[in-house]
Amino acid sequence: MALEIKSIKGTADVLPSDSYKWQFVERKFLDTARKYGFGEIRVPTFEDKRLFIRSVGDTTDVVQKEMYTFTDQGGRELALRPEGTAGVNRAVIENGLINGALPVKLSYAISCFRAEKPQAGRMREFHQLGMELFGSPSPSADAEVIAFVSEFFRLLGIQGISLEINSIGCKECRKNYHAALKSYFEARKDQLCETCLERLDKNPLRILDCKNPECHEVAKDAPVVLDYLCDDCKAHFEGLKKRLDALGVQYTVNPRIVRGLDYYVRTVFEFVSSDLGAQSTVCGGGRYDGLIKSLGGPDQPGIGYAMGVERLLMVMKAQGIEIPAPAPCDLYIGSIGEDASVEALRLCDILRKEGFSAECDIVGRSVKAQMKYADKIGARFSMVLGDNELAEKKASVKNMATGENTEVSLDGEPLKAFLYNAGLDDLSDSLKGTLGGILENMGTSPAPEVKE
Ligand code: ATP
Ligand code: MG
Repeated sequence: MALEIKSIKGTADVLPSDSYKWQFVERKFLDTARKYGFGEIRVPTFEDKRLFIRSVGDTTDVVQKEMYTFTDQGGRELALRPEGTAGVNRAVIENGLINGALPVKLSYAISCFRAEKPQAGRMREFHQLGMELFGSPSPSADAEVIAFVSEFFRLLGIQGISLEINSIGCKECRKNYHAALKSYFEARKDQLCETCLERLDKNPLRILDCKNPECHEVAKDAPVVLDYLCDDCKAHFEGLKKRLDALGVQYTVNPRIVRGLDYYVRTVFEFVSSDLGAQSTVCGGGRYDGLIKSLGGPDQPGIGYAMGVERLLMVMKAQGIEIPAPAPCDLYIGSIGEDASVEALRLCDILRKEGFSAECDIVGRSVKAQMKYADKIGARFSMVLGDNELAEKKASVKNMATGENTEVSLDGEPLKAFLYNAGLDDLSDSLKGTLGGILENMGTSPAPEVKE
């Protein structure tokens, strides 16, 4: 029978053959973030719909076209999060973090949902790694998060990602800019799409972000916001550039970046890869002073970004960056008969508790099928227990790569010692760390000399 109910368009399964790559990237991100002082926050997958309307903005594509909303059994209007910043801002206020020691520095690894047209690098459920930094108006905060992203890419071995920065000013300097934009687009009204005609009155900045090719064309010659910055915003932008220069982080100023979310002020930035097709932005972010206040918190500034995990992995694949695959099974213990099957299970348990990866037959198949399976899972060593082996308390351990056989006593300690000796170089670092102590306990390494 064919599978009747299939996965939803724009969602994807991540299988074990790939999930270790996701784990690697997420761990690297959260661990490095921790070193920079960013602790991980976990926020809910769905929130009150109004949270996103108010922060992301009601004239944005994300809210107008892409948000998954639903009414729950209690009649509440909810939305699956289309991004992470809004929820983290809410959490920071609700949990009082914003009233404690500042700055508050948070990182996250989350799934997001947007009803977009699925294509390469564009999913309906996708994943973001992000950071938010609260309580610093200084360009040092902007520089810190931007430099982090740049370092994270370096740690992953990724090359050829360019950083583009811009300032879109504050509320004050944007008044003049909005007026300039409005008169520019008023004169070209007939070339704008329906949505942008609405945006013309409400938020002309959003027209610059429209995906419609005609609107895009008109927007090309529109006034740029950098020409309208107030002195404070100019100084902030110069301060950021100075710091990025000092950190050796290369960038270009792209006055066309406005970002698709309403909450941004001053600094906005994107990391763009030449290895991705149309969806070339791997990471986007910016400053959002005023957002905390608009959500009912104190008037504290904030800055953050998010990068798409799907796109990050696509870039790594395109650049041939190998992510270390998990070590295969150390020992497969086959068995013939009931008693041997119990013994195999017991030995497996001993080895697993020691930190080895051991497997035995739990299906009840023939020895031939068991060995075929051991081969398939790439076991490094295998052995088969039968009545003889149990009686003599000995078995022959086969090196699957070389075919070489070694007789080993059927007990936890000799087996452990055999695996340690055989696979020393391939053992994971954490296991190597505990190895010294274990060998010592087993009396295989000389005891330290005690001075009288
Ligand atoms: P785009 O211009 O590609 O639509 P965006 O401006 O909507 O991106 P942001 O809201 O800034 O994206 O999200 C940050 C990052 O999240 C993006 O740079 C991208 O890597 C990733 N991302 C956003 N939307 C999707 C999606 N639908 N599928 C996969 N990744 C996405
Ligand atoms: Mg988008």
